[in-house]
Amino acid sequence: MSSLQEFIDYLRSRGYKVTPQRLEIFKTVKSMRNHPNVYMIYQEVKKKNPTISPATVYKTLEVLERVGEIQAVCQIDGKTVYDTKLSPHINIHCLKCHKIKDVESDLVERLVKEVQIKSGARIVSQSINFFGYCSKCADEK
Ligand SMILES: [Zn+2]
Ligand SMILES: [Zn+2]
Repeated sequence: MSSLQEFIDYLRSRGYKVTPQRLEIFKTVKSMRNHPNVYMIYQEVKKKNPTISPATVYKTLEVLERVGEIQAVCQIDGKTVYDTKLSPHINIHCLKCHKIKDVESDLVERLVKEVQIKSGARIVSQSINFFGYCSKCADEK
């Protein structure tokens, strides 16, 4: 799923109300890169919808996660960090500056295929997380 129409259909089929605010949140999140956290998403949505409440944003993010449009990757300072990139990749978390860098690798794609074949499951997303120090922070040590 990735189009706005599919998102609308999904919301309706599950009994969720389709509101302009929800659609705005969907579009905003899909336009954000680099692992935004809930607060960053709320701030971004607020620019166009000054009256929107954090609860509406957070609840919609939960719906987006459930339908597989975004993925919660970790919590930093109590805030959920989301990944909007769902194609196979590895997240490298820096333990010092908390930046998350995406690294694509054919191995991940092959791994997903192998897991699908071995399990018979249809894999729709994955989250592979490596932890360490980014190139900048590693130099400073
Ligand atoms: Zn770092
Ligand atoms: Zn990522």
